[in-house]
Amino acid sequence: MVGTRKLLAIGLDGATFDTLLPLVERGHMPNLAALMERGSWGRLASTIPPFTAAAWSTFITGRNPGQHGVLSFRDKRDRFHYDLQGTGFVDARRYDLTIWDILSTAGKRVGIVNVPMTYPAHSVNGYMVTGMLTPPHVAQFTYPPELAEALGSDYVIDLDFIRDEDSFRICGFPPKTEMMAQIRHMLSVRARTCSRLMQEQPTDFFMVVFTSTDRVQHFFWDDLANMIARPSPNGTADAIERQIAEYFEELDERIGQLTELASPSATVLVISDHGFGPAPTHRFYMNIWLEQLGLLQRRGRASFLDLEYWRVMLGRNRHLKALLRRLMPQAAQDKAKQVAESTSGGIIDWSRSRAYFVPLYFHVGGVEINLAGARHEGIVEPGRDYELLRDRIIHQATQLQDPRNGKLIVELAARREELYQGPHVESFPDVILVLDPDYICSASLAGSSLIEFHAPMRSGEHRQDGIFIAAGPSIAQRGELSNLRLLDVPPTILYSMDLPVPSFFDGQVLKEAFDPAYLSAHPVQSQEWPSIPRAAEQAEQAGFSEAEQAEIEGRLRGLGYLD
Ligand SMILES: [Zn+2]
Repeated sequence: MVGTRKLLAIGLDGATFDTLLPLVERGHMPNLAALMERGSWGRLASTIPPFTAAAWSTFITGRNPGQHGVLSFRDKRDRFHYDLQGTGFVDARRYDLTIWDILSTAGKRVGIVNVPMTYPAHSVNGYMVTGMLTPPHVAQFTYPPELAEALGSDYVIDLDFIRDEDSFRICGFPPKTEMMAQIRHMLSVRARTCSRLMQEQPTDFFMVVFTSTDRVQHFFWDDLANMIARPSPNGTADAIERQIAEYFEELDERIGQLTELASPSATVLVISDHGFGPAPTHRFYMNIWLEQLGLLQRRGRASFLDLEYWRVMLGRNRHLKALLRRLMPQAAQDKAKQVAESTSGGIIDWSRSRAYFVPLYFHVGGVEINLAGARHEGIVEPGRDYELLRDRIIHQATQLQDPRNGKLIVELAARREELYQGPHVESFPDVILVLDPDYICSASLAGSSLIEFHAPMRSGEHRQDGIFIAAGPSIAQRGELSNLRLLDVPPTILYSMDLPVPSFFDGQVLKEAFDPAYLSAHPVQSQEWPSIPRAAEQAEQAGFSEAEQAEIEGRLRGLGYLD
């Protein structure tokens, strides 16, 4: 029976058991409950940072970020000239060898729908519909290209919340009920498409990622939490809470339909790339902290007239911020942001600074050392000076307390090579800090205190733990498992399909999820792979055009991903 095993993987972007368990217990999600009941499940540790780009890249390649190099949506960063944000966007050509390539090479037919970071589509043994970071108006988001037409004109890759450049009412989000309606439309169109594809073009491996879970939790975390806190699910007259309950019910129904369409011999996986929780309510000013340690020097004091100062002051008031966003044309907002950023960068005296902050994701930040030779005005000598400075920063970070309540601010402070391994580690910030998720890292040098209140634009933000649920004939009925990592999912997929695991994968097969009989009949096999320099081969090809980059940027901003 070698090679006959099939697999259905359903990705729920950002799904967390913190919300799913209460919904399951209340009977909102009977299909998910059934999978958990007959299989094994547990919290799934994401990448650091717990972010869509880094996490799905790890899933797609089976490798840690040090190997694939992706920590954010941005592609390139000119560290020599102190570019902190980066430019361009990651595209799928950067991955040498993907899990789809491995399955295709093993003769498995694959169907891949809406996995983030898969654009541009490339040839597989089967078909592919690309996901998040696909430019909004490209025709070729499928392999084979003619599949695009078969998907129909109502197929949506992602949402575009209000992008009316000519109107003065831009950049405020639309009414909640309208947003929910768009999110639910996106879910049902995607699910219908998948049902049709599974029936008309059956595969050995089928995977879809529903990004609507991430969007619902970013924008409606508060409402979701309120809904869950109510003693009875139907005890609310609140229209949004009802819509959210209906959204999760529909999601569950769709999971049931896809599971039904999978072969009875198939393993069914439900996974997420990271978890979710309430958005941070405090700002931690990383550069001010480095300045207080004597590691960062500024050219002059920020004045009350400084645009950056006003941006921070206004940013503290959510209503004022929302109002400004509505009133100011996008072009003016972009200009203000550019000026503010250059002001902020212009404040730092690089020739006298030893370390500075590099943003990664909300509560996860990097500290970069101003290394002689590697930076335009680098002053820290490599070797002993560099190591001593990193030790000092890590030591100081672990002592950091919120002065108002004594709470430790930093949950994890580590040298980059302690968290990542591979050729890209050198391009990551020298020290990585993971803050308590109630604190967002800020680069600003306006203000004078280390910590201030923060008024988030979206009520939910990412957390470290996603979800893992597995069910099927080879899976044990084991209930909750612990110590699961996203990195372990790709080898587990190959193993459950009775395939050897490439030796370059960084994770382990999650053996504890499997039936003892399957385990003893199928010892885990490792396989050497010749390197397939697909990325090198395709590096010659053009990346995103300027117009495409602008469109992606607009969409990410519309979703609140870019400030
Ligand atoms: Zn995500």
